[in-house]
Amino acid sequence: MTQAFDIVIVGAGMVGAALATGLGREGFSVAMIDRAPAPTFDPEAEPDIRVSALSAGSERYLQSLGAWNHILGMRATPYRRLAVWDETRHPLSNLLPRTSNRVEFSAAELNAAHLGHIVENSVTQQGLWQAAEAEPSVTVLAGSGVSGIAETVDHATVTLENNRQLTAALVIGADGAQSRVRDMAGIGVTRNQYAQQAMIISVRYRGQVQDITWQGFYPSGPRAFLPLYSAGSDYPGESRASLVWYDSSQEIARLKRLGSDALMAEIQQGFPKELPPLTHIESRASFPIARQHAKQYSAGRIVLTGDAAHTINPLAGQGVNLGFQDAQCLQNVLKEARRAGTDLAGPSVLARYEQQRRPANRRMMLAMDAFYHLFSNQTPPLHLLRNVGLGTARALPFARNYVARYAMGIDDELPAVIRQLAARLPGLNQH
Ligand SMILES: Cc1cc2nc3c(=O)[nH]c(=O)nc-3n(C[C@H](O)[C@H](O)[C@H](O)COP(=O)(O)OP(=O)(O)OC[C@H]3O[C@@H](n4cnc5c(N)ncnc54)[C@H](O)[C@@H]3O)c2cc1C
Repeated sequence: MTQAFDIVIVGAGMVGAALATGLGREGFSVAMIDRAPAPTFDPEAEPDIRVSALSAGSERYLQSLGAWNHILGMRATPYRRLAVWDETRHPLSNLLPRTSNRVEFSAAELNAAHLGHIVENSVTQQGLWQAAEAEPSVTVLAGSGVSGIAETVDHATVTLENNRQLTAALVIGADGAQSRVRDMAGIGVTRNQYAQQAMIISVRYRGQVQDITWQGFYPSGPRAFLPLYSAGSDYPGESRASLVWYDSSQEIARLKRLGSDALMAEIQQGFPKELPPLTHIESRASFPIARQHAKQYSAGRIVLTGDAAHTINPLAGQGVNLGFQDAQCLQNVLKEARRAGTDLAGPSVLARYEQQRRPANRRMMLAMDAFYHLFSNQTPPLHLLRNVGLGTARALPFARNYVARYAMGIDDELPAVIRQLAARLPGLNQH
């Protein structure tokens, strides 16, 4: 059986599901397909190992899609403060107050209720699936991946692994960093694997749910604390958090081999002293990290969004926020095309999307690389530069608020100083 749609979205992660909902709300007939079964939520279960810091900009977008209340109804942790500091030791370390190289942003200073929320990826995805399913023009097909895409002059035919066939004017690849759709479209990538890997550790700690998320930068990579929710009546007085430990692949491999007690001791010793006392390690996973950019965002009747188009260093937690910006841009461009009576996959339509999103995505990649190079380094001038940088950000409320507004997704232009720094770093190519 072949079903016809305006648009088929392959991959219903956070980005694909958001796009399906938004396009459905605009009245497009959309098929949203994912090879995984529909996500489920169990309030008693341990948290998803993958969590994201969603900016205020992403929150507004999820609200506009009708997904935010579903997310809040499951669980999301607001953070009202965000702190960053340098943990590199140098000869004067003991003489300087600990706050000298620390910058902290607070919602109160920005007259905001919070800076953002930490949300488990599966919760965001599920909130979006519920919103998508509520749209009459969206058809959700879970549990079967894409096996082929064929194109004719006026449509594309998507074949699923269960042999079902769907036709559409446009196929959107939102199937993540290892995108099959991208391969099927014959689109290559430029890729730089970072020396560091990220280990994510779900923990319980003694104390109340914290309202701060922080990141301490060591020469071997950052170590971050993302607060989650109360551990409930089974563990009175305890809360949950997600820790991220960036380090060399050898060090991450060593940490992964440790038993829970030994790993907990290493974390308690290796993390900044702001880490509350841990009581239990619930789960852990490690991820290689890479900067990857599709050489083009579209080919024929196929267009890419989210991680299928780009991945960035996750150290500032901006990956999905960028994907949501892609989704909003593509939705606007497609709405415009329909109004003009143009083919949704017309070259000028898809070029308009790429013209808007490629430079913005690239700027963020470069900014993340700037942070990575600046902090993963013990060279004295860089050490000085980053402390001056953090000192400046701390001392100048204007600069600090500017950076915070950007990190919150209120402004979408990088602060000029970071743009200039990114542009001067060696080894950053044109992609
Ligand atoms: C260690 C780490 C920490 C991160 N922390 C943050 C953070 O704090 N904040 C942030 O914004 N971002 C963060 N990110 C990045 C963020 O996770 C990604 O940017 C985001 O998940 C991308 O969403 P997506 O929907 O594009 O892709 P994905 O989440 O990868 O979703 C792809 C979907 O496509 C489906 N799929 C795959 N192949 C097929 C197929 N052949 N057929 C059908 N369906 C298919 C999959 O089942 C999946 O549902 C982090 C990433 C890493 C590695």
